[in-house]
Amino acid sequence: MSSVIRSTSCCDDVPEPSTLTVDDARQQILADIESITASEKLTLRSALDRVLAEDIISPMSVPGHTNSAMDGYALGGSDLPLDSDRVYPVIGTSFAGAPFNGSCKAGQCIRIMTGAVMPTGTDTVVMQEHVEAVETDSVAIGEGHRPGQNVRQAGEDITAGDAVLQASRTLTPADLGILSSLGIGEVRVRRRPRVAFFSTGDELRSIGETLAEGDVYDSNRYSLYGMLKRLDIELLDMGVVGDNADDLRKALTEAASMADVVITSGGVSVGEADYIKPILEEIGEINFWKIAMKPGRPLTYGKIGSSKFFGLPGNPVAVMVTFYQFVQPALRYMASGRSSLPWTFMATCTETIRKRSGRYEFQRGILEQDAVGRLTVRKTGQQGSGVLMSMSRANCFILLPEDCDGVAAGDDVRVQLFDTFV
Ligand code: AMP
Ligand code: MG
Repeated sequence: MSSVIRSTSCCDDVPEPSTLTVDDARQQILADIESITASEKLTLRSALDRVLAEDIISPMSVPGHTNSAMDGYALGGSDLPLDSDRVYPVIGTSFAGAPFNGSCKAGQCIRIMTGAVMPTGTDTVVMQEHVEAVETDSVAIGEGHRPGQNVRQAGEDITAGDAVLQASRTLTPADLGILSSLGIGEVRVRRRPRVAFFSTGDELRSIGETLAEGDVYDSNRYSLYGMLKRLDIELLDMGVVGDNADDLRKALTEAASMADVVITSGGVSVGEADYIKPILEEIGEINFWKIAMKPGRPLTYGKIGSSKFFGLPGNPVAVMVTFYQFVQPALRYMASGRSSLPWTFMATCTETIRKRSGRYEFQRGILEQDAVGRLTVRKTGQQGSGVLMSMSRANCFILLPEDCDGVAAGDDVRVQLFDTFV
């Protein structure tokens, strides 16, 4: 963080926040975040969506045996008829879980079920729909079949000794299937990041309290809870803390002692910098950034002991925008050691959007697809940074970078979904 340049205003003691682009701020944060290395062993089901802490080397091949991909009749491929139909006696049956123990000679075939082991002397399966029964114990097979067809070879999915899953991948439903197919019942995963968060503001009341004039209910803690919950994070909700140094110092110190990351909202706009800033300087380190973005201009990032600190703005929309743009990538990196920025898509904007170049704007949009999957996007109306309904109605951000100076109806714009982040 030492690379951040801070300029100090000549007229007073309040340092003028340094101005950064969204990309620069995100890069600086990501460069400072360390990924969690501690790990724990979990049973398969509880490991879903967790980050693997070890490479998984397959102890066996899958499938373990060459087996049939179809219900039908197994025979030697070199024994298939070349021109006219030929009749084969059926000398036995191979079931999944109950293989045929004899061997198949030229001129014979064996009834076989999907998943059953291919009997000795066979390497080809003819689907049952492609044969004709001749009496009860023989079938007629015609031409046009290929030696080796309808058979799954041993080791075709996984070979013993293969590194099937690499450390730091997030385990998917398919991965749980792979692990169980190898008989692995427990895996080592990284510990989840612990995040402590609280709202700051003397005007904030909790649900159930009475609102005096000028008071508002604390909503940031709930939207933060929702966004954090979706990330599979361990949460420590610390409530509301008033705008005074003692309470803030106590809450920040306590939060840092318990969590890898501390997140607050409010109290970081220039007029209020006095609350969070001196305390952070006393008990940790802080960068006070003015980011060329809308909404969400003020952002503080620093550390308290070994915890990272994000001081998000107070305005409800700004909290969510800065969380998605800065906190979420940081937490993902911390959890996995992989840096992955959210996927973005191009969509046709159905209306005009006015904007001046200079700041990166995150307008809230509704992304829709038509019958053939083409994407269109429109704004959610009023875009003020306190208008939380603009987020509630939206399913994406319309990304309007610094150099964009407006969008005409019909233009393509880049959008970023809230909830399908890789
Ligand atoms: P601040 O950044 O503390 O100056 O707050 C900016 C605006 O956001 C003010 O109108 C606050 O009342 C409002 N605000 C701050 N924190 C919250 C919160 N937790 N819930 C709802 N509104 C908030
Ligand atoms: Mg405040």
